[in-house]
Amino acid sequence: MVYDFHTHTSLSDGDLSPMELIRRAVVNDYQAIALTDHVSLGELSRVIQEVTEVCTLARSYWNILAIPGVELTHLPPQAIAEAARRAKELGAWLVVVHGETIFEPVEKGTNLAALQSPNVDLLAHPGLLSLEEAQLAANNGVFLEICARQGHCLTNGHVASLALQAGAKLLLSSDAHSDQDLLTTPLTDAIVHGTGLDDVACHQVLNLHPQTFIKKLPISDE
Ligand SMILES: [Zn+2]
Ligand SMILES: [Zn+2]
Repeated sequence: MVYDFHTHTSLSDGDLSPMELIRRAVVNDYQAIALTDHVSLGELSRVIQEVTEVCTLARSYWNILAIPGVELTHLPPQAIAEAARRAKELGAWLVVVHGETIFEPVEKGTNLAALQSPNVDLLAHPGLLSLEEAQLAANNGVFLEICARQGHCLTNGHVASLALQAGAKLLLSSDAHSDQDLLTTPLTDAIVHGTGLDDVACHQVLNLHPQTFIKKLPISDE
């Protein structure tokens, strides 16, 4: 059973249409997939409208929780809280922020701004986040990502160890940009164990935290 809360489609820089990505996820035994294309302010309303319609269609016919979301990417940190608020107002169930990965020149202050925004749910690939930031994540209920994506994954061990220390919750996501990036059960198991967490903590990341995360979503099927 696979949960994945961070993926990309042709609405931004992913290869597959939203519908095809969900179809591939169904075939990969996914329980839930969030479609979280890159947005700033300009694309927000168009992307949320399109992804919402596709996710609703998928949920009506297939046994998968398809979640309409966005990933706020490379915004000035000062604009993150307002963009997250607007994303929720426009109907996004989930707001991810593209965190300070060591692999891209993400502006410093992005992690902090995300962790202080009440409408942000998941901080993706937070890079070399600090203990204070991990504590903020724990206090504000923002989940921290263990990222399967090449480059972004280089700091997974650091993120896992600080989250454990601070009591912040971790989620594994693929940050998939094509069908080949989608997760499988053996892969999720290996990546999470690869962070150095013990078996109990791995079980939490793979099973309990995704369920807690899903319970927070404004799931609104008739
Ligand atoms: Zn991308
Ligand atoms: Zn991403």
